[in-house]
Amino acid sequence: MNRKILFSFRRSSLKTKWALTSAVVIFISFAIICSVLYWSMHTWLLSQEHQSVNRTMDDLQVFFESQGSGMTIDEIRSNRGLMNSIIDKNQTVRILNKDGIEILRINDTINQIPEIKKQVPSQGYIVEKEKLEGIDCFVATSKLQMSPFLGYIQLTHPLDSFHSLMNYLLMAMCILGLGALIISFYIGHFLANFLLRPLHELRLEMLNVAEEGFGTPILMEYSYEDEIGDLLQVYRKMMAELEQTFLLQQQFVQDASHELRTPIQVVEGHLSLIKRWGKDDPAVLQESLETSLTEIKRMKDLVEEMLELARGEGVAQDSHCNVEETIREIVEEQLHLYPSVKIEIVKNHFTNVYAAISQRALGQIVRNLLQNAIRYSNHDAKIFVCLTIEGKNCKIEVEDHGIGIAESDLPYIFERFYRVDQARSREEGGTGLGLSIVHMLVNKYGGKIFVSSKLGEGTKFQITFPLENNQI
Ligand code: ADP
Repeated sequence: MNRKILFSFRRSSLKTKWALTSAVVIFISFAIICSVLYWSMHTWLLSQEHQSVNRTMDDLQVFFESQGSGMTIDEIRSNRGLMNSIIDKNQTVRILNKDGIEILRINDTINQIPEIKKQVPSQGYIVEKEKLEGIDCFVATSKLQMSPFLGYIQLTHPLDSFHSLMNYLLMAMCILGLGALIISFYIGHFLANFLLRPLHELRLEMLNVAEEGFGTPILMEYSYEDEIGDLLQVYRKMMAELEQTFLLQQQFVQDASHELRTPIQVVEGHLSLIKRWGKDDPAVLQESLETSLTEIKRMKDLVEEMLELARGEGVAQDSHCNVEETIREIVEEQLHLYPSVKIEIVKNHFTNVYAAISQRALGQIVRNLLQNAIRYSNHDAKIFVCLTIEGKNCKIEVEDHGIGIAESDLPYIFERFYRVDQARSREEGGTGLGLSIVHMLVNKYGGKIFVSSKLGEGTKFQITFPLENNQI
């Protein structure tokens, strides 16, 4: 049963949960306050009734003492008026003989004569709670000695008005409690409606984006800086980033298909040429085969670089490499490919330096920078690779004296497929992805990259990487 209630509570809407919870909380607080109030009223009123019994008994004792021990029952009877003024309207006083037989009665609120208790003290009186004629009563008894008469004074104080007052109070509290429960449920519902409206609107906006896609107009206006405002900001920021990634991806697919289409078309054209003329003309055959092979190599490079960019491999925590060794290997490799090029490594207090980057990534970065430096320099390029330590980082600079990059092009060179000179890049075997890969790898390993260039004078790329932990 409990599980069922819990289950249906969990499944109900946030508004209902809110309304129910606030109703229950308000009701429980109200019930606790009422119980405390009821209990203190009960104790206080009961003590008032007790005090009234004590007061009457004290007055009666003073009255009998003032009359002296020689007083007779007849004299008491004739003093009824005086005794009437001592006792309260709802109290009954009886004078009983020593066998408990009623001799005299003043007032008549309860007919039943309570039994005399054996332990009535000779001085003072006892007060007890008894049920007479179905009503709770205080019964006070004291001994009465008037020679020769020996008996008891007995006072009966019914608690019916006290009980009816308490019942009335209980009833009023129950009705108020029920009212509080209903009112607090409605107030909770209203509050939930009011406070959750922005969430509802946010949901509508999300549904709208899900149906219409990115770029749908913003429906929701919410300017408060509370949790919902915060949530809205996070959501919008996230959506903007998602949209950006989505657009970039679209752009990438478009660019990639465009870049692949050109070599495929060239290869297709040359293969048709071979088919038609190449069999008979060895010059055409030779030229077409060479061009096709160049284009296929370009496609291969392009696909490899695109895969490099798309590779989502994470950064290993303990990746590190010897910077100088890695760079020397790549320089050797490039010198082997381009024997006419001169590459000089300049070191500034740089021995046995380890950077927090994998050897493969550092190799790829340096290779791409060196290839660009060679590609965009005129023949017999002279390139400098400077290695320096800067605080907790190591700095690698690749400087050439090639064609340089115009200032207006500098902000775009790290974008995918961006080329300053499309024809030259293609001619030199560039794909337009080299610097994007460098940028991506540098960011991935927590490094920084800067470029400075002057048209016609040359270009300098500066990269900094954090040193491996135990070197700092
Ligand atoms: P690509 O494969 O075309 O070289 P990159 O992403 O490596 O593509 O470089 C983007 C563009 O930046 C190149 O097309 C070129 O115009 C320019 N660029 C890069 N490096 C240099 C350099 N060292 N000197 C002059 N221009 C450069």
